[in-house]
Amino acid sequence: MKYANTIIDLVGNTPLVKLNRVTEGISATVLVKLEYLNPGGSSKDRIATRIIDAAEAEGKLKPGGTIVEPTSGNTGVGLALVAQQRGYRCVFVLPDKVGEDKRNVLTAYGAEIVVTPTSVAPEHPDSYYNVSDRLAAEIPGAFKPNQYSNLNGPRSHYETTGPEIWDDTDGRVTVFVAGVGTGGTISGTGRYLKEVSDGGVRIVGADPEGSVYSGGTGRPYLVEGVGEDFWPTAYDPSIPDEIIAVSDADSFAMTRRLAREEGILVGGSSGMAVVAALRAAASLGPDDVVVVLLPDGGRGYLGKIFNDRWMQSYGFAELPGESTVADVLR
Ligand code: PMP
Repeated sequence: MKYANTIIDLVGNTPLVKLNRVTEGISATVLVKLEYLNPGGSSKDRIATRIIDAAEAEGKLKPGGTIVEPTSGNTGVGLALVAQQRGYRCVFVLPDKVGEDKRNVLTAYGAEIVVTPTSVAPEHPDSYYNVSDRLAAEIPGAFKPNQYSNLNGPRSHYETTGPEIWDDTDGRVTVFVAGVGTGGTISGTGRYLKEVSDGGVRIVGADPEGSVYSGGTGRPYLVEGVGEDFWPTAYDPSIPDEIIAVSDADSFAMTRRLAREEGILVGGSSGMAVVAALRAAASLGPDDVVVVLLPDGGRGYLGKIFNDRWMQSYGFAELPGESTVADVLR
Protein backbone atom coordinates (compact mmCIF):
# COMPACT_ATOMS: atom_id res chain seq x y z
CA MET A 1 0.00 0.00 0.00
CA LYS A 2 1.21 3.48 -0.81
CA TYR A 3 0.22 6.11 1.74
CA ALA A 4 1.62 8.79 4.02
CA ASN A 5 1.53 8.15 7.75
CA THR A 6 0.40 11.69 8.57
CA ILE A 7 -0.59 14.74 6.56
CA ILE A 8 2.70 16.40 7.57
CA ASP A 9 4.63 13.77 5.66
CA LEU A 10 3.13 15.20 2.45
CA VAL A 11 4.77 18.64 2.87
CA GLY A 12 7.20 19.57 0.08
CA ASN A 13 8.22 17.89 -3.18
CA THR A 14 5.92 20.22 -5.10
CA PRO A 15 6.04 20.04 -8.92
CA LEU A 16 7.33 22.45 -11.55
CA VAL A 17 5.19 23.33 -14.57
CA LYS A 18 6.14 25.40 -17.64
CA LEU A 19 4.29 28.61 -18.48
CA ASN A 20 3.19 28.61 -22.11
CA ARG A 21 0.89 31.58 -22.78
CA VAL A 22 1.83 34.51 -20.56
CA THR A 23 5.44 34.02 -21.68
CA GLU A 24 4.75 35.04 -25.28
CA GLY A 25 7.83 36.77 -26.74
CA ILE A 26 10.19 35.31 -24.14
CA SER A 27 12.74 32.74 -25.27
CA ALA A 28 13.83 31.45 -21.84
CA THR A 29 12.00 28.49 -20.28
CA VAL A 30 9.88 29.78 -17.38
CA LEU A 31 8.85 27.15 -14.82
CA VAL A 32 6.61 27.77 -11.83
CA LYS A 33 6.78 25.78 -8.59
CA LEU A 34 3.29 25.06 -7.31
CA GLU A 35 3.44 25.49 -3.55
CA TYR A 36 -0.34 25.42 -3.27
CA LEU A 37 -0.04 21.67 -3.67
CA ASN A 38 1.35 21.43 -0.14
CA PRO A 39 -1.28 19.91 2.23
CA GLY A 40 -2.01 23.26 3.93
CA GLY A 41 -2.06 25.02 0.56
CA SER A 42 1.14 27.07 0.74
CA SER A 43 4.93 27.17 1.01
CA LYS A 44 4.49 27.95 4.70
CA ASP A 45 3.87 24.27 5.50
CA ARG A 46 7.62 23.84 5.05
CA ILE A 47 8.67 26.40 7.65
CA ALA A 48 5.98 25.34 10.13
CA THR A 49 7.29 21.77 10.25
CA ARG A 50 10.91 22.89 10.67
CA ILE A 51 10.09 25.55 13.29
CA ILE A 52 8.02 23.22 15.50
CA ASP A 53 10.54 20.38 15.27
CA ALA A 54 13.28 22.78 16.39
CA ALA A 55 11.16 24.30 19.21
CA GLU A 56 10.43 20.82 20.60
CA ALA A 57 14.09 19.81 20.36
CA GLU A 58 15.18 23.01 22.13
CA GLY A 59 12.51 22.62 24.87
CA LYS A 60 10.74 25.85 23.87
CA LEU A 61 7.51 23.96 23.15
CA LYS A 62 6.34 21.42 25.71
CA PRO A 63 3.33 19.05 25.72
CA GLY A 64 0.05 21.00 26.03
CA GLY A 65 1.75 24.26 24.98
CA THR A 66 0.22 27.07 22.90
CA ILE A 67 1.59 28.44 19.63
CA VAL A 68 1.03 32.22 19.23
CA GLU A 69 1.97 33.88 15.94
CA PRO A 70 1.15 36.95 13.85
CA THR A 71 0.42 35.52 10.40
CA SER A 72 -1.32 36.52 7.20
CA GLY A 73 -2.90 33.09 7.19
CA ASN A 74 -0.61 30.67 5.42
CA THR A 75 1.88 30.26 8.24
CA GLY A 76 -1.07 29.71 10.55
CA VAL A 77 -2.41 26.86 8.43
CA GLY A 78 1.00 25.18 8.40
CA LEU A 79 1.43 25.62 12.13
CA ALA A 80 -2.18 24.49 12.77
CA LEU A 81 -1.58 21.26 10.84
CA VAL A 82 1.51 20.36 12.81
CA ALA A 83 0.03 21.56 16.11
CA GLN A 84 -3.11 19.49 15.61
CA GLN A 85 -1.05 16.34 15.08
CA ARG A 86 0.96 16.97 18.24
CA GLY A 87 -1.72 18.31 20.59
CA TYR A 88 -0.85 22.03 20.79
CA ARG A 89 -3.32 24.95 20.98
CA CYS A 90 -2.91 27.69 18.31
CA VAL A 91 -3.70 31.41 18.59
CA PHE A 92 -3.10 33.51 15.47
CA VAL A 93 -3.03 37.30 15.16
CA LEU A 94 -4.08 38.69 11.76
CA PRO A 95 -4.20 42.20 10.26
CA ASP A 96 -7.74 43.17 9.22
CA LYS A 97 -6.83 43.37 5.49
CA VAL A 98 -6.63 39.57 5.41
CA GLY A 99 -9.68 38.15 3.65
CA GLU A 100 -12.47 36.36 5.48
CA ASP A 101 -11.87 33.15 3.56
CA LYS A 102 -8.31 32.98 4.88
CA ARG A 103 -9.51 33.61 8.44
CA ASN A 104 -12.11 30.86 8.18
CA VAL A 105 -9.50 28.38 7.00
CA LEU A 106 -7.59 28.90 10.23
CA THR A 107 -10.62 28.40 12.45
CA ALA A 108 -11.59 25.34 10.40
CA TYR A 109 -8.33 23.72 11.49
CA GLY A 110 -9.28 24.45 15.10
CA ALA A 111 -7.13 27.55 15.63
CA GLU A 112 -8.25 30.70 17.47
CA ILE A 113 -7.79 34.07 15.71
CA VAL A 114 -7.39 37.68 16.89
CA VAL A 115 -7.87 40.42 14.25
CA THR A 116 -5.91 43.72 14.50
CA PRO A 117 -6.00 46.99 12.44
CA THR A 118 -3.70 47.21 9.38
CA SER A 119 -3.55 51.01 9.54
CA VAL A 120 -1.49 51.32 12.76
CA ALA A 121 2.34 51.53 12.92
CA PRO A 122 4.29 48.40 13.99
CA GLU A 123 5.19 50.08 17.34
CA HIS A 124 1.52 50.83 18.17
CA PRO A 125 0.13 48.63 21.03
CA ASP A 126 -2.67 47.39 18.71
CA SER A 127 -0.29 46.39 15.89
CA TYR A 128 -0.36 42.72 15.13
CA TYR A 129 3.26 42.34 16.24
CA ASN A 130 2.57 43.87 19.68
CA VAL A 131 -0.74 42.07 20.25
CA SER A 132 0.95 38.73 19.58
CA ASP A 133 3.83 39.64 21.94
CA ARG A 134 1.34 40.32 24.75
CA LEU A 135 -0.53 37.06 24.14
CA ALA A 136 2.74 35.11 24.05
CA ALA A 137 3.85 36.70 27.32
CA GLU A 138 0.59 36.11 29.16
CA ILE A 139 -0.59 32.65 27.99
CA PRO A 140 1.15 29.96 30.09
CA GLY A 141 3.33 27.60 28.04
CA ALA A 142 3.13 29.88 24.99
CA PHE A 143 5.69 29.62 22.20
CA LYS A 144 5.97 32.35 19.57
CA PRO A 145 7.63 30.95 16.44
CA ASN A 146 8.26 34.51 15.13
CA GLN A 147 8.61 33.68 11.47
CA TYR A 148 10.25 37.08 10.88
CA SER A 149 13.30 36.28 12.98
CA ASN A 150 13.23 32.46 13.19
CA LEU A 151 16.12 31.14 11.10
CA ASN A 152 14.46 27.72 10.88
CA GLY A 153 12.24 29.38 8.23
CA PRO A 154 15.03 30.06 5.71
CA ARG A 155 16.69 26.81 6.82
CA SER A 156 13.61 24.79 5.76
CA HIS A 157 13.88 26.30 2.27
CA TYR A 158 17.64 25.66 2.20
CA GLU A 159 17.00 22.02 3.07
CA THR A 160 13.94 21.32 0.88
CA THR A 161 12.88 23.98 -1.67
CA GLY A 162 16.40 24.61 -2.99
CA PRO A 163 17.37 20.94 -3.50
CA GLU A 164 13.97 20.17 -5.09
CA ILE A 165 14.48 22.93 -7.69
CA TRP A 166 18.07 21.88 -8.39
CA ASP A 167 17.12 18.21 -8.78
CA ASP A 168 13.96 18.79 -10.83
CA THR A 169 15.83 21.02 -13.32
CA ASP A 170 18.84 18.65 -13.44
CA GLY A 171 20.94 21.60 -12.32
CA ARG A 172 19.90 23.70 -15.35
CA VAL A 173 18.12 26.46 -13.43
CA THR A 174 19.80 29.83 -14.13
CA VAL A 175 17.41 32.27 -12.43
CA PHE A 176 15.26 31.86 -9.31
CA VAL A 177 12.46 34.33 -8.61
CA ALA A 178 10.42 34.62 -5.40
CA GLY A 179 8.37 37.25 -3.64
CA VAL A 180 9.80 38.58 -0.38
CA GLY A 181 7.67 38.59 2.79
CA THR A 182 9.64 37.42 5.81
CA GLY A 183 12.40 36.78 3.28
CA GLY A 184 12.71 33.14 4.33
CA THR A 185 11.93 31.69 0.91
CA ILE A 186 14.37 33.77 -1.10
CA SER A 187 17.13 33.65 1.54
CA GLY A 188 17.07 29.87 2.11
CA THR A 189 16.32 28.72 -1.43
CA GLY A 190 18.61 31.37 -2.91
CA ARG A 191 21.52 30.46 -0.63
CA TYR A 192 21.24 26.77 -1.55
CA LEU A 193 21.03 27.44 -5.28
CA LYS A 194 24.01 29.83 -5.18
CA GLU A 195 26.12 27.34 -3.24
CA VAL A 196 25.25 24.27 -5.31
CA SER A 197 25.79 26.14 -8.61
CA ASP A 198 28.92 27.98 -7.45
CA GLY A 199 27.19 31.30 -8.01
CA GLY A 200 25.67 30.22 -11.33
CA VAL A 201 22.06 30.92 -10.37
CA ARG A 202 20.85 34.52 -10.34
CA ILE A 203 18.45 35.28 -7.47
CA VAL A 204 15.67 37.81 -8.13
CA GLY A 205 13.32 39.10 -5.44
CA ALA A 206 9.85 40.41 -6.25
CA ASP A 207 8.44 43.12 -4.00
CA PRO A 208 5.23 45.19 -3.94
CA GLU A 209 5.79 48.85 -4.91
CA GLY A 210 6.05 50.77 -1.64
CA SER A 211 7.71 48.02 0.42
CA VAL A 212 11.17 48.48 1.96
CA TYR A 213 12.92 45.71 0.01
CA SER A 214 12.64 47.69 -3.22
CA GLY A 215 13.47 51.02 -1.57
CA GLY A 216 9.96 52.05 -0.48
CA THR A 217 8.86 53.52 2.82
CA GLY A 218 6.43 50.75 3.71
CA ARG A 219 3.40 52.59 2.32
CA PRO A 220 0.32 50.37 1.93
CA TYR A 221 -0.24 48.00 -0.97
CA LEU A 222 -2.94 45.39 -1.45
CA VAL A 223 -1.05 42.25 -2.42
CA GLU A 224 -0.96 39.98 0.64
CA GLY A 225 1.89 38.04 2.21
CA VAL A 226 4.78 39.97 0.66
CA GLY A 227 6.58 43.27 1.23
CA GLU A 228 7.39 44.79 4.60
CA ASP A 229 7.71 48.07 6.42
CA PHE A 230 10.75 46.79 8.39
CA TRP A 231 13.76 44.51 7.78
CA PRO A 232 13.17 40.99 9.24
CA THR A 233 16.17 38.90 10.33
CA ALA A 234 14.81 35.93 8.33
CA TYR A 235 15.79 37.98 5.25
CA ASP A 236 19.43 37.84 4.17
CA PRO A 237 19.96 40.90 1.92
CA SER A 238 23.22 39.44 0.55
CA ILE A 239 21.31 36.70 -1.33
CA PRO A 240 19.18 38.51 -3.96
CA ASP A 241 21.11 39.89 -6.94
CA GLU A 242 18.20 42.13 -7.82
CA ILE A 243 14.84 43.22 -6.40
CA ILE A 244 12.05 44.10 -8.82
CA ALA A 245 9.14 46.26 -7.60
CA VAL A 246 5.71 45.36 -9.00
CA SER A 247 2.48 47.39 -8.69
CA ASP A 248 -0.73 45.94 -7.25
CA ALA A 249 -2.41 46.48 -10.64
CA ASP A 250 0.24 44.47 -12.52
CA SER A 251 0.31 41.75 -9.83
CA PHE A 252 -3.46 41.27 -9.90
CA ALA A 253 -3.73 41.41 -13.70
CA MET A 254 -1.12 38.64 -13.98
CA THR A 255 -2.78 36.62 -11.21
CA ARG A 256 -5.99 36.63 -13.26
CA ARG A 257 -4.13 35.77 -16.46
CA LEU A 258 -2.48 32.76 -14.78
CA ALA A 259 -5.94 31.34 -14.00
CA ARG A 260 -7.47 32.15 -17.41
CA GLU A 261 -4.56 31.37 -19.67
CA GLU A 262 -2.48 28.78 -17.82
CA GLY A 263 -5.14 27.08 -15.66
CA ILE A 264 -3.15 27.99 -12.53
CA LEU A 265 -5.34 29.47 -9.77
CA VAL A 266 -2.95 31.21 -7.38
CA GLY A 267 -2.78 34.21 -5.03
CA GLY A 268 -1.67 37.78 -5.72
CA SER A 269 1.92 37.30 -4.56
CA SER A 270 2.25 34.58 -7.21
CA GLY A 271 1.09 36.98 -9.93
CA MET A 272 3.57 39.51 -8.59
CA ALA A 273 6.44 36.99 -8.75
CA VAL A 274 5.54 36.03 -12.33
CA VAL A 275 5.52 39.71 -13.42
CA ALA A 276 9.02 40.11 -11.94
CA ALA A 277 10.15 36.85 -13.57
CA LEU A 278 8.94 37.93 -17.01
CA ARG A 279 10.72 41.28 -16.65
CA ALA A 280 13.92 39.46 -15.64
CA ALA A 281 13.47 36.93 -18.47
CA ALA A 282 12.97 39.56 -21.18
CA SER A 283 16.73 39.85 -21.73
CA LEU A 284 17.48 36.10 -21.45
CA GLY A 285 18.10 33.51 -24.15
CA PRO A 286 16.74 30.03 -24.92
CA ASP A 287 19.26 28.25 -22.67
CA ASP A 288 18.01 30.05 -19.59
CA VAL A 289 15.71 28.30 -17.15
CA VAL A 290 13.79 30.61 -14.83
CA VAL A 291 12.09 29.04 -11.81
CA VAL A 292 9.39 31.11 -10.08
CA LEU A 293 7.99 30.05 -6.72
CA LEU A 294 4.20 30.49 -6.45
CA PRO A 295 3.51 30.55 -2.68
CA ASP A 296 -0.23 29.85 -2.45
CA GLY A 297 -3.49 29.09 -4.28
CA GLY A 298 -6.21 31.49 -5.42
CA ARG A 299 -9.16 30.17 -3.43
CA GLY A 300 -8.46 32.50 -0.52
CA TYR A 301 -8.79 35.50 -2.86
CA LEU A 302 -12.05 34.76 -4.70
CA GLY A 303 -13.77 37.75 -3.06
CA LYS A 304 -10.90 40.07 -3.99
CA ILE A 305 -8.59 39.55 -6.97
CA PHE A 306 -11.10 37.31 -8.75
CA ASN A 307 -14.07 39.57 -7.96
CA ASP A 308 -14.69 42.22 -10.68
CA ARG A 309 -16.47 44.62 -8.30
CA TRP A 310 -13.64 44.48 -5.78
CA MET A 311 -11.10 45.06 -8.56
CA GLN A 312 -13.10 48.01 -9.93
CA SER A 313 -13.53 49.53 -6.46
CA TYR A 314 -9.74 49.93 -6.31
CA GLY A 315 -9.54 51.30 -9.85
CA PHE A 316 -7.96 48.22 -11.39
CA ALA A 317 -9.08 48.22 -14.99
CA GLU A 318 -11.41 45.57 -16.30
CA LEU A 319 -9.37 43.03 -18.17
CA PRO A 320 -9.75 42.52 -21.91
CA GLY A 321 -11.55 39.36 -22.93
CA GLU A 322 -14.23 39.60 -20.25
CA SER A 323 -17.61 39.38 -21.88
CA THR A 324 -21.09 38.41 -20.79
CA VAL A 325 -23.16 35.69 -22.38
CA ALA A 326 -25.29 38.46 -23.92
CA ASP A 327 -22.23 39.92 -25.65
CA VAL A 328 -21.42 36.51 -27.07
CA LEU A 329 -24.93 35.89 -28.42
CA ARG A 330 -25.46 39.42 -29.83
N1 PMP B 1 3.20 34.96 -0.57
C1 PMP B 1 2.35 34.65 0.40
C2 PMP B 1 0.91 34.49 0.05
C3 PMP B 1 2.80 34.50 1.71
O1 PMP B 1 1.94 34.19 2.70
C4 PMP B 1 4.18 34.68 1.99
C5 PMP B 1 4.68 34.54 3.39
N2 PMP B 1 4.51 35.71 4.17
C6 PMP B 1 5.05 35.02 0.94
C7 PMP B 1 4.53 35.13 -0.33
C8 PMP B 1 6.52 35.33 1.15
O2 PMP B 1 7.33 34.30 1.62
P1 PMP B 1 8.49 34.60 2.64
O3 PMP B 1 7.86 34.96 3.94
O4 PMP B 1 9.25 33.32 2.73
O5 PMP B 1 9.34 35.72 2.13
